[in-house]
Amino acid sequence: MTKTAFKAESKRLLEMMINSIYTQREIFLRELISNASDAIDKIYYKALTDDSLVFNKDNYFIKITADKASRTLTIADTGIGMTQEDLENNLGVIAKSGSLAFKQENEAKEGHNIIGQFGVGFYSAFMVADKVTVTSRALGSDEAYQWESEGAEGYTIVPASKETIGTEIVMTIKPNTEDDQYDEFLEPYRLKAIVKKYSDFIRYPIKMDFESQQPKEGADNEFEQVIEEQTVNSMVPIWRKNKNELTDADYENFYFEKRYGFDKPIKHVHISADGAVVYNAILFIPERTPFDYYTKEYEKGLELYSNGVLIMDKCADLLPDYFSFVKGMVDSEDLSLNISRELLQHDRQLKLIAKNIKNKIKSSLLSLLKDEREQYDKFYESFGRQLKFGVYGDYGMHKDDLQDLLLFYSSTEKKLVSLDEYVSRMQEDQKFIYYAAGSSIDRIEKLPQTEIVADKGYEMLYFTDDIDEFAIKALNTYKDKSFKSVSSGDLGIEADEKDKADDAEESGTKELFEGMKTILEGKVKSVKASKRLKSHPVCLSAEGEVSIEMEKILKAMPN
Ligand code: ADP
Ligand code: MG
Repeated sequence: MTKTAFKAESKRLLEMMINSIYTQREIFLRELISNASDAIDKIYYKALTDDSLVFNKDNYFIKITADKASRTLTIADTGIGMTQEDLENNLGVIAKSGSLAFKQENEAKEGHNIIGQFGVGFYSAFMVADKVTVTSRALGSDEAYQWESEGAEGYTIVPASKETIGTEIVMTIKPNTEDDQYDEFLEPYRLKAIVKKYSDFIRYPIKMDFESQQPKEGADNEFEQVIEEQTVNSMVPIWRKNKNELTDADYENFYFEKRYGFDKPIKHVHISADGAVVYNAILFIPERTPFDYYTKEYEKGLELYSNGVLIMDKCADLLPDYFSFVKGMVDSEDLSLNISRELLQHDRQLKLIAKNIKNKIKSSLLSLLKDEREQYDKFYESFGRQLKFGVYGDYGMHKDDLQDLLLFYSSTEKKLVSLDEYVSRMQEDQKFIYYAAGSSIDRIEKLPQTEIVADKGYEMLYFTDDIDEFAIKALNTYKDKSFKSVSSGDLGIEADEKDKADDAEESGTKELFEGMKTILEGKVKSVKASKRLKSHPVCLSAEGEVSIEMEKILKAMPN
């Protein structure tokens, strides 16, 4: 049987591909800059093994120029360039990546930074341009060639002239239409913002010209138009710098520049992991609760970079829900990306990084609790509720990670204490961790049920947050001690009071209680003599698992 090759409408195919891969048009700039950076990297790697080649960093840069009059945007680089054959192969064949081939050939060389691998990034230029003209002169060649295309209709390659080695890409930006605006891609300040967003940490300078009015020399009140060339990217990301060279202020600046929040972070964590998966991360624990934090609108996630290029604004998979308050970024070379770079393949590496990060956050919070208690209290005031939800959620499966981070108000210490602190203060004969739930500390203190526990000299935890008791039920025990509500049936401390109550039972009060029960029909299940009242005449107590406070909350919940 003979096979017939598929025929594809290449124009439609290209359009479909471009529009389905990329969700945002501005991404084209990231793709072209990444290619330019790859091209410079290739010279750098060649120079490592070729003595006749000297890599002087000063000579390598990327230049972006916008010209509104001709509606052109030019991206030029001093990289390795392309021969006629390269133009044919790499730009003429969709999904062919010269950079992937380069990486494979040069695998042995130390930690490469080359970004390209899918062979489609270049075509994203057609999202914003009607025509793309590439003029290139390859390293070691005297000839230059020009590749030109107006989209999938095809391309031409002709000889051209170019003084220097490298590549120049001129894009003719599409005209605005009623629905689509393209003018922004000719505005230097807009372009600068896009570079900052996606390509700030490209290792070579990305230069742009900015016009400004400057006072004219020697003349008063006269100004002249001056063009100033700026390097717009910061090049060395803070996370690749040595921790010892960075100050708290550096991290705070980064937090502010990145707009992670407008507060001052309580703590930062800088990770440089070199183990099973290589990555750098900077994480922040904010001080204040974002205004939308406890709403559905709040989106958790960390910024994700691959090799210094931003891939995702908010990668949710990197943070568990109970640490959703953490801000920051992760950069890794080890991620397997798919062609859009916006959707990650849910791979082992990402899971490893996430697990690693979770443990780091946990240990940082524990050390904050241990060593900087005031700061921890501040943190807990903002995000403690989230931790308690974390204990309760997912059927309690995260409780081991979270139980040591919980704080509750203590009846004896009159401040927030951890469970560990409580247990370490427990008296010899004390069997349970006692707690009392209510709407405020004041009201809890007036509960008749707290009296007998307080009289024994036992500490109680006061639960004023509606999630508290649910979280504790999920915990069940802490360091082998069970929790006991002061309003539960058996407090475990009534032994010495027993006789008194038994007496009451016998001495004819039985009828009195039955009478009371009839009067309170439907409101109480039973009326009993209590062994735990001191100065109060009566108290309510719950039987079984659900306490009175929990019952109130459950009733208030929408069904
Ligand atoms: P990728 O970068 O994933 O390989 P692209 O579509 O972005 O895919 O680019 C295709 C190929 O074209 C690159 O692999 C590279 O070989 C070549 N190329 C693109 N831009 C340049 C450039 N500025 N300088 C040199 N080669 C380039
Ligand atoms: Mg590319």
